[in-house]
Amino acid sequence: MNVAVANVPPSELDMWPGPVGWDSVWVADVRCRPATRDEHTTRACRRPHCDGAPVMALERTSGWWLYCADHLYGHRIRHGVVEFRTWHERERVS
Ligand SMILES: [Zn+2]
Repeated sequence: MNVAVANVPPSELDMWPGPVGWDSVWVADVRCRPATRDEHTTRACRRPHCDGAPVMALERTSGWWLYCADHLYGHRIRHGVVEFRTWHERERVS
């Protein structure tokens, strides 16, 4: 697997427990991929004033934008797959 890192946890900010009665589910984000080792070592995070080593690439109309582990915007990387959280409502027992 030619990726910079296979696992990056979400930040604490992204670990909001969610609304009562809903469970979070992580799903693959098809617009994103992990940064390659080459991108990780030779490029910088796209966020202004950040020079962190990229771990994630986000596809924009102008190409792939790279982001470091501090700027994943709600994403995490698990087993080389970039994921984001969605919410599923628990079934109500009445
Ligand atoms: Zn950054």
